[in-house]
Amino acid sequence: MEERYIVGVDIGGTWIRVGICTADLKEENIKRKLTKTGKENQYSISTSVNKLLNELLVENRIKKEQLIGIGLASAGPLDIEKGKIFNNANLGFKIIPLKKPIEKKFPGIPIYFINDCNGAVLGVHYFEAEDREKDNLVYITISTGIGGGVICNGHLLLGKEGNAVEVGHGLVAPKSKIQCNCGAYGCWEVFSSGTGVKNRALEAISEGKLNTDILLKIVNNDITKITAKEIFQAARKGDKLSKKVVDDCVFYTTVGFGLVNNFYDCQTIYVGGAMMKDHKQILPPIIKKFKENPIIFTINNPPEIKLTKLGDDVGLRGALALVKYKTENHKVIS
Ligand SMILES: [Zn+2]
Repeated sequence: MEERYIVGVDIGGTWIRVGICTADLKEENIKRKLTKTGKENQYSISTSVNKLLNELLVENRIKKEQLIGIGLASAGPLDIEKGKIFNNANLGFKIIPLKKPIEKKFPGIPIYFINDCNGAVLGVHYFEAEDREKDNLVYITISTGIGGGVICNGHLLLGKEGNAVEVGHGLVAPKSKIQCNCGAYGCWEVFSSGTGVKNRALEAISEGKLNTDILLKIVNNDITKITAKEIFQAARKGDKLSKKVVDDCVFYTTVGFGLVNNFYDCQTIYVGGAMMKDHKQILPPIIKKFKENPIIFTINNPPEIKLTKLGDDVGLRGALALVKYKTENHKVIS
């Protein structure tokens, strides 16, 4: 019998990743390709996915008939029934159809659609989590924005349209005057996402209350060059303003993790996303707070907090795991 394959696709604001793997999902059998996320028209993304997948098939001498299914994990919000992305602030179009244009090129192959963070928690579930963690598992990404995926009591939480666990827009500072991209005030991601950290630093610079000579030196006095990376670097070197911004990022992330644990009573929170390049300044202080005085942040027993080892691959792994679990009727998604 011919070998069968699973396809996983991860669609983000910056990169599209496509991977193909043998049905056993052995890590060493995953072949990948990636390209920048096109924003020319509403079909740019599906065209890229079709192209990369086709290249993978040709290069690895795999026929369409050998595919078990295609998992699509995408930045949301999504309509998983209709296979569309809607209202995404970073992808450029009000509606982006995905399922139909891919189905057209790969007819007869089942396509499964999932919000990226809900997919990522499946990736951690399959590829990384210990058995004792699997039934009550959370994945949080701290990147341009903040999002999450939750497995509670052994079941993946999806919600009515597949957008459950938008924790980044959880209110962590009700009296805040800082407005989030979503329109609300005081969301977790206005303090702790990459964009949030940058904006808080720029605000503090214009207020002019805290010394920030070290940060300004790093960017040669050009504040347009400031990103979260330079702020964390400056904080490490003792920059007062950067340190305050990083402290706030960490504090509100502790609040956020505490809320997540109050809602889902999780065993472990795995953390990923671009901000984890500076995980040494973010995760240890949170782990310490949860060890020493968790009751300030969460009424439930605190979870373990771990950095995911899957890195940038976590979304793709989730898309692959989704197909495996769907076709095997695994209880986590039933
Ligand atoms: Zn928000």
